[in-house]
Amino acid sequence: MGQIADNLAKVRERVALAAERSGRGSQSVRLMAVSKTQPVDRVEEAYRAGARLFGENRIGEAGEKFSDFHDDVELHMIGHLQRNKAARAVGLVSCVQSIDKAETAAALESRLEAVESTMEILLEVNTSGESSKSGLRDEEELYRALEAILEMPRLRPRGLMTIATLTDKTSEVRRCFRALASMGERAARRFGLESFDELSMGMTGDFEIAIEEGSTLVRVGTAIFGQRETV
Ligand SMILES: *Cc1c(COP(=O)(O)O)cnc(C)c1O
Repeated sequence: MGQIADNLAKVRERVALAAERSGRGSQSVRLMAVSKTQPVDRVEEAYRAGARLFGENRIGEAGEKFSDFHDDVELHMIGHLQRNKAARAVGLVSCVQSIDKAETAAALESRLEAVESTMEILLEVNTSGESSKSGLRDEEELYRALEAILEMPRLRPRGLMTIATLTDKTSEVRRCFRALASMGERAARRFGLESFDELSMGMTGDFEIAIEEGSTLVRVGTAIFGQRETV
């Protein structure tokens, strides 16, 4: 078995164990292979090992690698989306997980209308409070953005995404994930949304904690592909 297939199997096992520990079925957590910076032959290796959900953080790079990739793959945008790149995201990714401005959503909506299509989105919340991170700052900003987005008929808001504080303190990491889960619940109730239940949280360093706190989708790069080269 190749290194990537081997890593993927180990991550799947850890996801299943964490789900089990939390009294949830392993089917309740989807595993995304974060393939940013990885060359397409390594992405192909992950595909051959069974990965079908991929995440990229740059639209240009995503287009180069995925516009001609396998048809049965689902690709999500997980990095900050500039408004002027929104049009290119349409038709390339099936979900933008990193919406933190109504203006970006509006740019997607306008393109979707032009091509008569729809798209799922997640709203990114900055739960760590670090000013360097993108994402909606608090619940009030989330409500305001969601209110605007619910007027956009071609966007399907499915839930929330966050990146927890990068720290060894598990209590702080857990606090971020809990905050996201409760914000998601309250938002769904407030706006009467039936399928607003996706919680994209957890990366290589913290996905088990995220699953314990209700994650439905973990985004894992390093534990599958190995250390990224820093550019
Ligand atoms: C890079 C990235 C990941 C994956 O990070 P790893 O620590 O390598 O698992 C997950 N989510 C986002 C938004 C990322 O940019």
